[in-house]
Amino acid sequence: MNNSSKGDIFQNFALKDLSSFKIGGRCKLFFSPYNPDDLRDFLKNQSGNIPTICLGHMSNVLISDEDIEANIICTRDTFQDIRFFENNNVKVESGVPLNKFVHVCSLQGISCLEQMYCIPGTIGGALFMNAGTPIFEIFDVVVSIECVDMRGNIISINRDELKPAYRSGNIPKDLIITSCILRTSESSVATVQKTMDEIGRKRLSTQPISMATCGSTFKNPDGYKAWQLIDSAGCRGMSVGEAYVSDLHCNFIINNGNATFQDVKTLMRLIKEKVLEKHGIMLKEEIQIIEFGD
Ligand SMILES: Cc1cc2nc3c(=O)[nH]c(=O)nc-3n(C[C@H](O)[C@H](O)[C@H](O)COP(=O)(O)OP(=O)(O)OC[C@H]3O[C@@H](n4cnc5c(N)ncnc54)[C@H](O)[C@@H]3O)c2cc1C
Repeated sequence: MNNSSKGDIFQNFALKDLSSFKIGGRCKLFFSPYNPDDLRDFLKNQSGNIPTICLGHMSNVLISDEDIEANIICTRDTFQDIRFFENNNVKVESGVPLNKFVHVCSLQGISCLEQMYCIPGTIGGALFMNAGTPIFEIFDVVVSIECVDMRGNIISINRDELKPAYRSGNIPKDLIITSCILRTSESSVATVQKTMDEIGRKRLSTQPISMATCGSTFKNPDGYKAWQLIDSAGCRGMSVGEAYVSDLHCNFIINNGNATFQDVKTLMRLIKEKVLEKHGIMLKEEIQIIEFGD
């Protein structure tokens, strides 16, 4: 472990309050590097075999509430640089929140990720997940990404070297994304803001976005909507402990206050069993589960 790297370092750090689900135990070490060089220094000097995981806004992760035998690197409060180039490309660091980026673009009448307005999370998390909507995903505009490997080497990857899929950027788990280049197009302030308004309104009316949740729990199977399968299998409102299936959007699980990791996992297992029994379809998790030792 290297405690001389620049950045904020905390030992035995509780993740619960930072996670969208409000569930999560203590990690061995929590490191928030100030910039990519600090991250590289840290990784170069890191010793031991303890796993290292990078997290952003934690809006798509269900984290074990046991002690987590891992070092967590978090770029959400740093890595905030956004640089526009004359060729219509923009370089965005991985900790930039999606909504902040959309706002910055909108003020200049630049079209880029406004279809993703109101999706919580950082640019890094969105790239790892290939986040998006039924009509747009972030890899539609990715030119390249820049990462750091676990030995601190810089790795640049062009879009055509990656094979992004539905809700997966297919980025190796041992890479930490530090920034990306995105393609933008010229628009107008009014047009971009109109899209944001429409999308924001739609999300508010269809998703429980102010609740403790991680968004869609399961991926949509080919040709189906996961929420419809879950609804027609009778799972709307189903609960385990303080975790329940949202009435507003059946693919969202809500933490009603004190739900545990096991409450959510058990509820997910029951949903999968019911959907399999009713429809013969095995749902696959979209949310990323972080646990060790089982
Ligand atoms: C209310 C709500 C609505 C949502 N709606 C949508 C939606 O419409 N569409 C959609 O696609 N998603 C949606 N989500 C899910 C989530 O917002 C997205 O997946 C988001 O892009 C995750 O970003 P994050 O920074 O929170 O990532 P995290 O949750 O912190 O991490 C997600 C994964 O990315 C990895 N990761 C994060 N940052 C990095 C990095 N810098 N380098 C390498 N790996 C990294 C993590 O290890 C983890 O595996 C929703 C979530 C909520 C709570």
